[in-house]
Amino acid sequence: MSAPPSPPDVLGRARACLLGLALGDALGATTEFMSPAEIRAAHGVHRTIVGGGWLGLRPGRVTDDTEMSLALARALVAAGGWDLTAVAEGFVAWLKGRPIDVGATCRKGIRDYLLTGRLEVPPNEWDAGNGAAVRVAPVALFGLGDEELCRGLAVAQARLTHHHPLSDAACGTVALLVQRAVLGATAFDLHAVTRDLAARHPAFGFARYQGEASGYVVDTLRTVFHHFFTTATFEECLVAVVNQGGDADTTGAIAGAIAGAFYGPDALPPGWLRRLDPAVRDACQELAPGLLRLSPWWRVQSGVP
Ligand code: MN
Ligand code: MN
Repeated sequence: MSAPPSPPDVLGRARACLLGLALGDALGATTEFMSPAEIRAAHGVHRTIVGGGWLGLRPGRVTDDTEMSLALARALVAAGGWDLTAVAEGFVAWLKGRPIDVGATCRKGIRDYLLTGRLEVPPNEWDAGNGAAVRVAPVALFGLGDEELCRGLAVAQARLTHHHPLSDAACGTVALLVQRAVLGATAFDLHAVTRDLAARHPAFGFARYQGEASGYVVDTLRTVFHHFFTTATFEECLVAVVNQGGDADTTGAIAGAIAGAFYGPDALPPGWLRRLDPAVRDACQELAPGLLRLSPWWRVQSGVP
């Protein structure tokens, strides 16, 4: 690793992480549940934020993936620290607001909290979807500077709705990737994180990736990893991911968070940012520093013991 990045650089990358997540969601929502052949027939290469898709979105509109991430971020910033009950209440308020889309596992988990007050659903063999991994980015910013803390909190937020070893492993890994990318890691450093995951859970290995882009968290992360490590810009990474179709808004959102943190704010395509829902854009800009201010990294920067 080279010299530690400056605080303004870290803040820029943290903002680009949340904005990248929202951009990936808005871009990928157009091609969600399509096959690569269907996307080619309809769009050639899909590379502009035009809305539509199975949800019939207006251009720049995001879906549940971004909304749950922002609900989590807002809950932590409002609480001024880690508060899983506040996060659960944030998800409840979001669900009661009749969101445009809700994953079945997320709905089940939020209902479970409403009925029982439990902050962890019981282990379930069907909980290996990507719905918890996609909302890890705010936790990675909140826990910046302490990787073990970050990993633990990523899993804790996940188990509000998803309780499965592969979801847990994915969440911890995405947290680590985002955190290291925000702090200026190289692609080589990040690749080592994915190799560590594959050493523990071989299913996540992506050397022989063949286009699986489903909502199964293993397929989701393999899609993100394959395209992140075979492209050289934020834009090319996201275009490659969402043109794989499948769960494209969610693969787009996870890739966007990691690639946004890695490539930084200047890499986000201006045309995409202009199309992004302004309320979402503003929320990302404000919540990123709000989360960083709560992090161990911030305490070190400001000399607080
Ligand atoms: Mn979605
Ligand atoms: Mn999705």
